[in-house]
Amino acid sequence: MINGYFKHLIENLEQIQKDFDNYQNQYFPKRSPEFFCLELNGEAGELANLEKKIWKGKTVSIEHIADEAADTFIALLNYANSRKINLALAVANKLQIIEQKRIALQQKGEDY
Ligand SMILES: [Mg+2]
Repeated sequence: MINGYFKHLIENLEQIQKDFDNYQNQYFPKRSPEFFCLELNGEAGELANLEKKIWKGKTVSIEHIADEAADTFIALLNYANSRKINLALAVANKLQIIEQKRIALQQKGEDY
């Protein structure tokens, strides 16, 4: 089930993560996992603030949202690389856990 939906993600994420690591190491100063974790949460906070503005009825461009989503994605990759986390493996493991839980709930007639 998981392989059918996420086969390409899992296959390609490892290379994407490696490419980001090479780019970061070649052109930017080395930084700690703690730095990248704070950066990740800062960027996620910027994204959340845009969604809060929308929730309050203000207009926010999709380009601005995409920019913050990109910042968050990049920060996650940098964090994972700094901690030597194999995101493809971690995501595959997590998707299996989610799928097992979803199926168990479905068998009880409940939504995930
Ligand atoms: Mg940002």
